[in-house]
Amino acid sequence: MNKYTGEYRQIVNELIKKSFPSLKNRKILILEINHPIYWWSWAFAFCFFKMNMIGVSQRTRKMDLISKRGLFVHELCHIENFRKNSRRHGTFLIYRYLKFLFNKSYVAQNERQTDIESIKKGYGKEILHLKIFVLKKESQKMQERRKKMGYLTPEQIKQYMKKFKNQRNLKVK
Ligand SMILES: [Zn+2]
Repeated sequence: MNKYTGEYRQIVNELIKKSFPSLKNRKILILEINHPIYWWSWAFAFCFFKMNMIGVSQRTRKMDLISKRGLFVHELCHIENFRKNSRRHGTFLIYRYLKFLFNKSYVAQNERQTDIESIKKGYGKEILHLKIFVLKKESQKMQERRKKMGYLTPEQIKQYMKKFKNQRNLKVK
């Protein structure tokens, strides 16, 4: 552990306490890994049998705190989803990982859904910050590619924020 992973650990612990009750008793490894599976990613989540891991790229060190929180909410949503599905057979997991590696639109679809879940949990602002931070670092070509693949745009994030806020207000009344 270095001072960066120490900071990540603190962010993750706070998020779990507040918004991920199902992950409270799970051990989650946080490692800095400089060559993540996808070259465009800043972090990724990996679960296998009882193991949970979040791999973080070193370039995440320069991210602002709000974006970092968005990043870890997103990764925790991945882990929560994997855990919901892991009651099913192990081969299902392997099948899913293969699909992740070879089917780019499945990846985009999954990423989109994970962002939507993060917004639903009340982290729209964080996801928006993260999205804008990441887009600033990317070429125009890459941004277009992401859009085509189905990743959420900042505009769509704002729409979902409004939608879930309205739903919450309705519930209060
Ligand atoms: Zn993701």
